[in-house]
Amino acid sequence: MAKIVAVLFADPVTGFPPEYARDTIPVIATYPNGQTLPTPKALDFTPGALLGSVSGELGLRKFLEDAGHTFVVTSDKDGIDSVFEKELVDADVVISQPFWPAYLTPERLAKAPNLKLAITAGIGSDHVDLATAITKGMTVAEVTFSNSIGVAEHTVMQVLALVRNYLPAYQTVLAGGWNIADNVARAYDLEGMDVGIFAAGRIGRAVIERLAPFGVKLHYNDRFRLPADVEEKYNLTFHEDIQSLVKNVDVLTVHAPLTAETAGLFNDELLSSMRRGSYIVNPARGAIADTMAIVRALESGQLAGYAGDVWAPQPAPADHPWRTMPHHGMTPHVSGASLPSQARYAAGTREILEAWFAGEKIRSEYIIVEGGGYAGTGAHSYAKK
Ligand code: NAD
Repeated sequence: MAKIVAVLFADPVTGFPPEYARDTIPVIATYPNGQTLPTPKALDFTPGALLGSVSGELGLRKFLEDAGHTFVVTSDKDGIDSVFEKELVDADVVISQPFWPAYLTPERLAKAPNLKLAITAGIGSDHVDLATAITKGMTVAEVTFSNSIGVAEHTVMQVLALVRNYLPAYQTVLAGGWNIADNVARAYDLEGMDVGIFAAGRIGRAVIERLAPFGVKLHYNDRFRLPADVEEKYNLTFHEDIQSLVKNVDVLTVHAPLTAETAGLFNDELLSSMRRGSYIVNPARGAIADTMAIVRALESGQLAGYAGDVWAPQPAPADHPWRTMPHHGMTPHVSGASLPSQARYAAGTREILEAWFAGEKIRSEYIIVEGGGYAGTGAHSYAKK
């Protein structure tokens, strides 16, 4: 029998379960590329429920305990005295969501001799030291596509919020004001702008499709070029490298995984090569940007706005400089954790566990690391090209 440790975010301060705003969630037939939705043998939760917090337990307790496994759930994840660090020593499986990541550093992995499987309930497994996971022969799996469209929607929302100066205008309303000039002095239209997409995987591609009707000129860079018919359909300009992409756009959205190549990529040098007054929306990973370079670019006016929902580290400390920098539209890491996304990644987590305990293959689109190397989605998106 196995020990499974899930690190989940805390329950709502108003108590669990919350009062839901709606009674149902939409039924999605398949993902845009034809990939099927998660296919667990059964579900012990109602789709639309809050599953990602401690009391939600990703709907897994009955399934795991009926099979005789031990299931530990905690939100206490950081520091050597944390519940997670103590429970890790004899854990076989760790589950965590990128919104509240259970960092599996080389030091922690060294303390977990039984750990064979790390599941990301969501997408983006950089909180696991993948090089060490490879050396240990672990499997790292995530629930590919479960929240990609939600993140694309959040991206479009934040692009519009920055360019149109929405958040200051909303603050004016809350403050009882009617300061038209103060608000419109920084308001622009997205129409006609050059918009760059850095990495056109599942999320980047969905952002392209959603932004095309706004009458923008679309540019992108990825390690793999999109098919010619897709480039033609959206009138996409392909750039060989990030340097060329950022120079030629007014708005940049970021959708690459955090890897050795992308860490700290948005530094002073790259930012200074952009058009003055550019906007960046980064819902990929906070560490792709150099924290203080972003602050400096906003303060100098080189950037007109920065938004996204990913920070380094997470949770961001109360004094994180991105909380107070000018012209930002940051949210906590929420874009991939809507209730419909939670239903899909909880079901996908169960699908992965069912396959794992039955000794069956986990579908390759969920695999990042397996058999001593990158495999499946990991081989395409994470491995050095
Ligand atoms: P994906 O695997 O479909 O796409 C990733 C793309 O990045 C691939 O096309 C790959 O070729 C490209 N890429 C990798 N390294 C690159 C590089 N150095 N230069 C250019 N392109 C590069 O992944 P996805 O589902 O689109 O997700 C992308 C990332 O978004 C995830 O890795 C994760 O970090 C983040 N994410 C965030 C949230 C959120 O809630 N904010 C949710 C899901 C995913």
